[in-house]
Amino acid sequence: MKTFCGRANPTTGAMEWLEEDENYDYHQEIARSRYADMLHDKDRNVKYYQGIRAAVSRVKERGEKAIVLDIGTGTGLLSMMAASAGADFCYAIEVFKPMADAAVKIVEKNGFRDKIKVINKHSTAVTVGSDGDMQCRANILVTELFDTELIGEGALPTYEHAHKYLVQEGCEAVPHRATVYVQLVESNRMWSWNKLFPVHVEAEDGEKIIVSPSEMENCPGVPSVCDIQLNQMPSSDFTVLSDVVTMFSVDFSKPVRSASTSYRVQLEPVKSGKAQIVLSWWDIDMDPSGMINCTMAPYWVKSTSAFQWRDHWMQCVYFLPNEEPVLKGEKVYLTACRDEYSLWYKLQKARGEEENKADVCVESPVCRCQAHLLWNRPRFGELNDQNRTRQYIKSLMKVLKTDSVCLCISDGSLLPVLAHYLGAKRFFKANHLEDKIKIIETRPELLMSSHLEDKKISVLVGEPFFTTSLLPWHNLYFWYARTAVTGHLASNVTVLPQSAALHMMVVEFQDLWRIRSPCGTCEGFDVQTLDDMIKNSMNFRESREAEPHPLWEYPCKSLSDPQEVLRFDFRETVPEHSLSTEGSVNLLRKGKSHGAVLWMEYHLVAGISVSTGLMQISNEKGNCEWNPHCKQAVYFFSSVIESEALSDLHSAVTYAINFNTKTGEIAMDFKL
Ligand code: SAH
Repeated sequence: MKTFCGRANPTTGAMEWLEEDENYDYHQEIARSRYADMLHDKDRNVKYYQGIRAAVSRVKERGEKAIVLDIGTGTGLLSMMAASAGADFCYAIEVFKPMADAAVKIVEKNGFRDKIKVINKHSTAVTVGSDGDMQCRANILVTELFDTELIGEGALPTYEHAHKYLVQEGCEAVPHRATVYVQLVESNRMWSWNKLFPVHVEAEDGEKIIVSPSEMENCPGVPSVCDIQLNQMPSSDFTVLSDVVTMFSVDFSKPVRSASTSYRVQLEPVKSGKAQIVLSWWDIDMDPSGMINCTMAPYWVKSTSAFQWRDHWMQCVYFLPNEEPVLKGEKVYLTACRDEYSLWYKLQKARGEEENKADVCVESPVCRCQAHLLWNRPRFGELNDQNRTRQYIKSLMKVLKTDSVCLCISDGSLLPVLAHYLGAKRFFKANHLEDKIKIIETRPELLMSSHLEDKKISVLVGEPFFTTSLLPWHNLYFWYARTAVTGHLASNVTVLPQSAALHMMVVEFQDLWRIRSPCGTCEGFDVQTLDDMIKNSMNFRESREAEPHPLWEYPCKSLSDPQEVLRFDFRETVPEHSLSTEGSVNLLRKGKSHGAVLWMEYHLVAGISVSTGLMQISNEKGNCEWNPHCKQAVYFFSSVIESEALSDLHSAVTYAINFNTKTGEIAMDFKL
């Protein structure tokens, strides 16, 4: 079957019809999946195995047959653990067809064919009975259906259904229980992901302050979870206002209710400050005694947490609807509300008990100001980055004249406001700029002289930033848009940024390498079938692709110097021919070359640049500091080279990089 999919190309902006191979989505899903990361998660695997062994023995001690239901079996791992632990029979349910197929192969290869039945269904479609999928209800329920928010992948409705229809009353569950923890903090850095801070503009005629409108100030934001590697957040970036408290627990061995509900705890602030953020994580007890515990607690709660790296489970950042001042020792109530799939928080001062009780939050946060729909959290952070803003202001001041006709091409940019304030003769108190800034809702190629009141553009600006960009070079759309509006540009037009450069560096990751590295065996089970499947999917298109990752969350060490590999001159139009480069970088440090990182730097005006990638290499070990608001492109090498001996140093990685100006795609090849 051939499917045609229409989409706007993120780089060129052209509407194109792609002949989507029916396998495309499937390969993408496998290649970018978290299965390998889970199988590399030793701590998780060991604890599941212990919990499963304990559950099987408890059932056996009661003299019963151990019948296991494994919902979301993936590779079949947990069922194989159960079978090895002596379970009599396992029903392994997996809804995702390619994984169910892989599970069949893996189960067979490991010799569990007559102990494990793989069922390719959603658990809610599974039937029980003599002619059903399962002969009888199970007495052991094993699952791993959790995301960073615990319930975001639908664990609650799945458990609710399983208890009603698929397992016996009093069944053993692995995990037995999950507990969600919270801690109240103040953090300017994290708060800047949710609110627009005042922007200070140093203009020639004094400082001006751009403030956000009140509907934005009071907007509760969006309900989507903000999950991050909290272990990468230095303690200097937040202030703890409360101890860690238990918000709620779920006992998976008993019937589970998924219907919306709320939980409330009393907190006694340990410090006065502005309550802005609720940090949250969970742990799971694999057995009822709580002796086998797997926790997502961050480093300041559990010092060894950094050594148990995983990307499939991180920590959550919840934004309170408004910042609330709290006083040390003065009690407050924190309420967690949840529906079937998500959680949100609310803080109340402890006044009348009754008054507070009546006021439980039922509605999940909905953005009323539009800004949270236009700007995602990293984008808020970027717009609040005063350092970055300063570079743009300095650059704008160099190019703007009072009679400039300025066109800005970027999504949700503050540049027009900045430009206006810098060029303005008068001081404006509020941001009423409707008559000064005109928003033109059209595609660049459809721009008409009438839109511009028949004026020619003397200054064309862009950050550039576009919401459709996933990879760093997708923002080259600015170049295409610039090309499309060429007819409207004055002959002496100034384009800001004047150019962009693609930079590249070879790195060794501390942990991120795991997500794309083969597992071979996991807890003694051969899972190579999955490795092969992932490899096959990664090579599905002729060239491997780079993938976006916010590297401030993923420590790495540079093994080569950063190098500019391609330059894009925005003062000229996009050329007809491709831009290609070949070269090599020397490896300067010992280490494992896991891959190359690529990012863009924008040269705003002569002498002023902003980087969306590397900020600096912080020490002689090569530890890197990345732009905290942007994702960088990571190209994982198909094989890792290790340079341990000094003689290996000065070996080089050669590269060939090609920017196809027709498709806007960057293809790359590396040889070690
Ligand atoms: N159990 C494996 C894989 C866990 S990933 C392991 O621990 O390594 C979770 C898997 O559950 C995914 O493959 C997903 O497709 C599947 N899944 C989630 N909810 C499901 C449901 N209700 N029924 C069947 N499969 C489900």
